[in-house]
Amino acid sequence: MSDSSTELKFYNTLTRTKENFAPISPDNVRMYVCGPTVYDYAHIGNARPVIVFDILYRLLRQVYGENHVTYVRNITDVDDKINARAARDYPDLPLNEAIRAVTEKTNAQFQADVKALGCLEPSSQPRATEFIEEMKALIERLVQNGVAYVAEDHVLFSPSAMNKRASGPHYGSLSRRPLDDMLAGARVDIATYKRDEMDFVLWKPSKEGEPGWPSPAGIAAKGRPGWHIECSAMSMAKLLEPFGGGLQCTDPLRNTFDIHAGGIDLVFPHHENEIAQSCCALGTQRMANVWMHNGFLQVEGKKMAKSEGNFVTIHELLETERFGGRKWPGEVLRLAMLMTHYREPIDFSQRRLEEAENILRKLKRVSDTAPEGEAEVPQVVIDALSDDLATPAAIQALSNLASEGNASGLKASLSLLGFDVSAVEVDEALINRAIAERLTFFREKDYAQADRIRDELLAMGVQLKDGKDPQTGERVTSWEIKR
Ligand SMILES: [Zn+2]
Repeated sequence: MSDSSTELKFYNTLTRTKENFAPISPDNVRMYVCGPTVYDYAHIGNARPVIVFDILYRLLRQVYGENHVTYVRNITDVDDKINARAARDYPDLPLNEAIRAVTEKTNAQFQADVKALGCLEPSSQPRATEFIEEMKALIERLVQNGVAYVAEDHVLFSPSAMNKRASGPHYGSLSRRPLDDMLAGARVDIATYKRDEMDFVLWKPSKEGEPGWPSPAGIAAKGRPGWHIECSAMSMAKLLEPFGGGLQCTDPLRNTFDIHAGGIDLVFPHHENEIAQSCCALGTQRMANVWMHNGFLQVEGKKMAKSEGNFVTIHELLETERFGGRKWPGEVLRLAMLMTHYREPIDFSQRRLEEAENILRKLKRVSDTAPEGEAEVPQVVIDALSDDLATPAAIQALSNLASEGNASGLKASLSLLGFDVSAVEVDEALINRAIAERLTFFREKDYAQADRIRDELLAMGVQLKDGKDPQTGERVTSWEIKR
């Protein structure tokens, strides 16, 4: 469904301007989003980048074709927070087994959460522990290139050394923090193994019992990677090497990909450090051409924090009655998130969810009347999304389609935005009450009333199926949606 007339514009944190988007290769648009560290339930702040960059992925697929976009979102499964959680939750297991239990469970929950939020699975979800060799190779290269050094079994990256190079980007160019200012403002509690306060860890030694791998750069002790190097290594392995780039490649143009995205809180230091590592190892000016960041999320007007009592996980919203005394469907959460532009701060509240639910109900009431079959997404919706993912304008366009009675265009648009248009909206509690009532009529041999309930449900698109419980012989009724 490629549409070459569509021009995409994205705000690029690197240049602080909204730019026309020109992929390196329109046949293979490549994007990377920093994924979760799997030690605890994802909170709704984590849900925001997952949802907004799912919209980006869907838009790119719409414009360049489904098979011409590669989306990588990593899973950080080696991290000190994971080790601490494993020791706390599974004190009786050996640490490595406890870590596996924590990461498997948390990752499974994360995958279930984001699926319920209507997000497509990325093209690949690399796990850090599967790319240790790539991280070590990157670290070795950084030491060779004179921007990293070994001290007390650590490998550290030196931003000062990076800035002494003859060419290539300077440290701080994404966050626009000059290194001199950072050094002047640095606190004096410099770890003994650091030459400079700003130096950051690429590799560190593992204590007995902690996860550890043979170290790079001639270090005898076992160790493990720092967080930042994980994303440089996995983006290289998944977005550069399969397409002729990587450490062996001497053409810097092959060692840049299109879009790197994440939450605004990752700009410094995480993304700054990713850029430093990747550009210094690969000899490039840019790690990714476009850097996109979503804004902060608050809950009920306050910064989300466990101490504020407003810390909410995706799981709690979907499966418990903790927020507003009820469960919320994933797509209501999704729409609530998209009602604010991704770069703006968002205030997540019960009122916002209720508003989203009302809007969604109105839209679906119209789109449910669309005839079967594929329809084009109206250009007005594509145009809104093409303008730096202007989802509020896109939602307004959907409301207009509903007012105009353009059910087919609305259905196609909802589908593009990741809303399920296949299911008829049903009120399960209502159906179950009606079935119970009907079974009572059967017991009272009031077949006319029982048939009336059956027909009423059928008119709502709900088909009843009667059977017998194999043990008790009693009548049991199940139901399904008839399309
Ligand atoms: Zn990252």
